Amino acid sequence: MRDRTAAVTIIRGGHVLTMGGLGDIRDGAVAIAGGTILDVGAYDQVRSRYPGAPVVGDERSIILPGFVNGHTHLSEALIPGMGEDLTLQVWGDRIVGPAGRHLTREMAEIGTLLKAAEMIRTGVTTVNDMFVHTNMGSLASLGVVDGLERAGLRGLVSFGAEDVWDPHPVAAFVEEHHALAERVAGSALLAFRLGVGTMLGQSDRLLEASARLVAEHGWRVHVHLAEVREEVVGGMLRFGETTIERADRLGLLQGATVAHAIWLREHEIDLLRERGAGVVHNPVANMILGSGVCRVGALRRAHVPVGLGTDGAASNDSQDMLQTIKIAPLLQKVHHLDPTALSARDAVAMATVEGARALGLTDVGSLERGNRADLVRFHGRLPGLANVHDPYQQIVYCASALDVADVWVDGRRLLDDGRLLTIDEEAVVHASRSLARTLVDRAGLHAYSCLAPS
Ligand SMILES: [Zn+2]
Repeated sequence: MRDRTAAVTIIRGGHVLTMGGLGDIRDGAVAIAGGTILDVGAYDQVRSRYPGAPVVGDERSIILPGFVNGHTHLSEALIPGMGEDLTLQVWGDRIVGPAGRHLTREMAEIGTLLKAAEMIRTGVTTVNDMFVHTNMGSLASLGVVDGLERAGLRGLVSFGAEDVWDPHPVAAFVEEHHALAERVAGSALLAFRLGVGTMLGQSDRLLEASARLVAEHGWRVHVHLAEVREEVVGGMLRFGETTIERADRLGLLQGATVAHAIWLREHEIDLLRERGAGVVHNPVANMILGSGVCRVGALRRAHVPVGLGTDGAASNDSQDMLQTIKIAPLLQKVHHLDPTALSARDAVAMATVEGARALGLTDVGSLERGNRADLVRFHGRLPGLANVHDPYQQIVYCASALDVADVWVDGRRLLDDGRLLTIDEEAVVHASRSLARTLVDRAGLHAYSCLAPS
């Protein structure tokens, strides 16, 4: 019989917010071993069951499942700080498109590590990425896998194929989907999704190829849908139906993760539910680009799971998940002129258990026996969490990266009392500088950047 205390670690908190069936536990603990959650309960009881195990945390700590960043673009890691005054389509034409023609696998890897550091420091353990580029033949999207593996994050990776603005043979896009899928095959922490950048960004031939791949391989889709009003009009003009309706007609909506879903009609909400799709709400990006306000309440009341995402570094512009978790309820409250529109508890659920469901993941997002050991510990030593009256409100409205002490993914510690264990942050920041300069130079983005040509 296995020695149950040998590799066990106990993580203790004055508040353990399980986001699962056990609810909230005062002076609780989670025991983990071998990447799995072994036990969750009152600290005294967990301690007595594993008397020899080391304990991390104390009665001032708050323990939660690690956050799920449900939608981002690590392809934008090197180009923050551009285009806050542009609408989505102009921003795509002037910034993301030109950058996408020059992204390399090395830029993807270093950019991923750079943003992984930011995410881990704000409690993220799972990230759903869509790498968008048109530097065909470079297989740049595979660099995300290289970076996520080095960082130790859990993730879903996709290549956000689009050929309308930068035409290339359909075969080149299909090749990169296959290369990315093969790269993560057998990975314990990473899985593949079929990326569809946007419906209007794919030619009819590429859309048909995407639909064929989904049908052949059973791949789930990661797609932007109904992000801006122009997309609804563009869909009607090109397809004679909305982009959501066309995605469904092609079989792309089944079990899909849909970023944004802002401009929805009632029957489209029903369609998302019927297809088992999840939505990821990206409030900061929606506000920066002036895209609109997601009908979070209507979607959740219709039992469509809604997660939270930062969106990419060129439209957020940070990857600070705690900011997103704070702004999500604030946006709903002010939009509806109703302080009950979305609670702090709802926001935490969307960033954890509901966000995992929106991605089709079932073994992360809540602290329950048998789930993967993805956790975050807030230490409670700084003023914001010094006196905890409501851990949900204070995680959402008071906490910052400075309050995040420890992060575990699959039982492996990535952050130890504020110190990154898997990423040499100084070296990554240094390496990113010359790559960002090269990218700005090659993409001709000097009008939006103070980086001089190299
Ligand atoms: Zn996006």
